[in-house]
Amino acid sequence: MSSETWNRVQREIETSVGANNYAAWIRPLRFERCEDRTLQLASPTDFIGRWVQQHFADAILRHASEAGIDAARLVCTAAPRAAASDASRVPSSAAAPAPRVRSEDGLDPRFTFDAFVVGKSNEMAHAAARRVASGGPVTFNPLFLHSGVGLGKTHLMQAIAWELKETRPEARVMYLSAEQFMYRFVQSLRDHTTMSFKALFRSVDVLLVDDVQFIAGKESTQEEFFHTFNALVDQGKQVVLSADRSPAEIGDIEERISSRLQSGLVIDLHPADYELRLGILQHRYALHRAEQPDFGIADGVMEFLASRISTSIRVLEGAMTRLFHYWGLVRREIRVEQIPDVLADLLRASERKLTIDEIMKRTCEHYNLRMSDMVSARRSRSVARPRQMAMYLAKKLTPRSYPEIGRKFGGKDHTTVLYAVRKIESLMQTDPQLAEDAQMLQRRLEG
Ligand code: ADP
Ligand code: MG
Repeated sequence: MSSETWNRVQREIETSVGANNYAAWIRPLRFERCEDRTLQLASPTDFIGRWVQQHFADAILRHASEAGIDAARLVCTAAPRAAASDASRVPSSAAAPAPRVRSEDGLDPRFTFDAFVVGKSNEMAHAAARRVASGGPVTFNPLFLHSGVGLGKTHLMQAIAWELKETRPEARVMYLSAEQFMYRFVQSLRDHTTMSFKALFRSVDVLLVDDVQFIAGKESTQEEFFHTFNALVDQGKQVVLSADRSPAEIGDIEERISSRLQSGLVIDLHPADYELRLGILQHRYALHRAEQPDFGIADGVMEFLASRISTSIRVLEGAMTRLFHYWGLVRREIRVEQIPDVLADLLRASERKLTIDEIMKRTCEHYNLRMSDMVSARRSRSVARPRQMAMYLAKKLTPRSYPEIGRKFGGKDHTTVLYAVRKIESLMQTDPQLAEDAQMLQRRLEG
């Protein structure tokens, strides 16, 4: 078989898979070779390769055999468009970041369940997302995912959309950000097409709206969103939402809306723990190696990165991408000693210095107190307990001494702080609610 034969086969395949599928999946494939009854094609990305293999292998092999090619198996692997010799002549071309191809419905092909690494901190969110994606009866509505930035909300929501497209191709699945929702709503007001705007949004089977904190303070958008949301939920249609904080913490949003948002299942994704961070680095490393099998980093590099970068998964991914580009220039295995130089800025940025003020502020938010309560001398339990909690967290999460912490809390004696820390530690043994508060606050502060 030759490339010309493949071109002919491709056109035949188009007749059976349709123009859209052809353009998205079949046209980008290049013929590599056919040996031992194995047809080898090159795809522009790993994802396309896998997709083709899962969905179009039969069609491809059938048409190939009709063209007289004796192939029983299809292997479709990612091969960068530039030939290897090009890459070595112009090393910087290897350093260009891979473009993010978005499909027409705004979904990133990389955000699938396959590419999502599950760990303790995100297993609940992952399980709930899987449940929604299975397309069974709606059991919780809405599913509300929240977390700090870069912890996988968008990834999970799009994974749901991708999965549903496959398992329930007839279902109307719409994914968009709250910002796009507002933009389209405002546009419909301007163009006098609100009726069709409403009709469109009320006709979907699954609506996924990302970053809903964006509608806070935007009254008419909020109102319209609320109506859309209610209409869908009332019809038993699944709604999935995400935000950078819990529904209760989104300020400037009407009470009835916020309580409606909390009426389903609310799950937060916690900052990734060490194992998950390592897992994600290994996953990214494998992806880069699929592209460039020679890409090499020495033992200990991933462990080092996993222990030093804990802010967001996006930053972690960025670190691995940077190493990949760096390798593209030097073409030598990257050693641990080089990391502080190569990733200096990333490492600096992830050295978070938590302040006592931040701890007090967060604790106040959590218990609905004012900052002045933290530094006051009031001893009523509703104030004293949270204050002790903040002192405990300050001791645990910062390098400050007891006297330093005492000074920050309105000039209290170091023994007061010591007592507070011991008190909270012992209460945590007996009071599950308090233990949970402590853990949650700690996660928040560390994230
Ligand atoms: P968020 O929407 O919470 O800000 P994203 O979903 O955009 O975060 O995730 C940021 C980046 O980290 C994306 O590139 C995403 O693919 C990646 N990512 C997040 N969580 C995971 C995970 N568990 N496994 C693999 N990649 C992840
Ligand atoms: Mg996001």
